[in-house]
Amino acid sequence: MGTSNQGELIPVAEPVFIGNEKTYVADCIDSTWISSSGKYIRLFEESFAEFCGVEHAVSCSNGTVALHVALLGLGVEPGDEVIIPTLTYVATANAVTYCGATPVLVDSEPVTWNMDPMLIESLVTSRTKGIIVVHLFGHPVDMDPIMAIAEKYGLFVLEDAAEAHGAEYKGRRAGSIGHAATFSFYGNKIITTGEGGMVVTNDDGLAARMRQLKGQGMQPGSRYWFPIVGYNYRMTNIEAAIGLAQLEQIDWHLARRRENAQWYAEFLGDCELVCLQPEMPWAKNVYWINSVVLGESVRLTRDEVMDALAAKSIETRPFFYPMHVLPIYEHLTGPEGYPVADMLSSRGINLPSSAKLTREDVARVSSALIYLVKAMR
Ligand SMILES: *Cc1c(COP(=O)(O)O)cnc(C)c1O
Repeated sequence: MGTSNQGELIPVAEPVFIGNEKTYVADCIDSTWISSSGKYIRLFEESFAEFCGVEHAVSCSNGTVALHVALLGLGVEPGDEVIIPTLTYVATANAVTYCGATPVLVDSEPVTWNMDPMLIESLVTSRTKGIIVVHLFGHPVDMDPIMAIAEKYGLFVLEDAAEAHGAEYKGRRAGSIGHAATFSFYGNKIITTGEGGMVVTNDDGLAARMRQLKGQGMQPGSRYWFPIVGYNYRMTNIEAAIGLAQLEQIDWHLARRRENAQWYAEFLGDCELVCLQPEMPWAKNVYWINSVVLGESVRLTRDEVMDALAAKSIETRPFFYPMHVLPIYEHLTGPEGYPVADMLSSRGINLPSSAKLTREDVARVSSALIYLVKAMR
């Protein structure tokens, strides 16, 4: 492991444009349809709904507001409780807060790192409205037990599928299992529109409510008549044009990410000092981000490992802080704490995972990582 190994920067994520992105964006500009009407909005929504295997797709300005309109559309009100995993990106919790409702935090399970379905039922109260599941890093949540709890108590299930475009649970696409699902098209996601989001659902009434909410609340067919307080959460035609071009190539994007994961498994799978996210027999993981959790016997701290990788021009990210350690949400900490999420978040590293990675890149990341996890302090 000398400096000869240094090489070019390997970024943790990078968008890749191999299709009609430029052509469609140029078409928006040439036609002057650059705002939130135009054919690409409709085409992107229709194709995305078809991709997910659902009836409706409602485009939004980003994945966070997609969660917000979905929760409002599902009837979340001040005083309600919504059950969410503590180990997630902050947007999941924030969207609940925007509604004046309270996130109720659930620990992770150690195998897939997703919310532990076994811990949910005891958290249901008379104020619980629903459950948001997060398909973390692209591995779907075990949905059957969660749908059963929801059915038993009359709760909604919203899938936060921001990281899981194309993932499958028992052969069904992520986004088609809960009552609604949200996606993000931020620059580092599996497909991107720059900034952008989508809510999908099979519920006609919910889709109509969300369309009204994201369009300032205007009553359909009655220009400037606003019977409810809505929002401007619309996607632009330019963003949708990029999204449609990305979606046309999604099979390629998904295949590249699986190949990355296979390479990481090949190079790191035998190392007992790191644990990769698995793919359960009932799941198709889309490996949005390839990650490792450092074993207990690794002598360097997680941050020391990340710093040493950075010194070798290998960009990484730490796992999210769980919500219960953020000052804005620490008051939500439950009596048992969240030992699994704490362990994962203190030992987890997101590795370079762009669709542009080569086998040599993955080999370089993996050998640098193996060297570090074996190192003494
Ligand atoms: C990226 C992400 C979001 C939010 O998406 P934005 O488009 O950045 O607003 C929400 N939830 C999860 C789990 C995410 O990873």
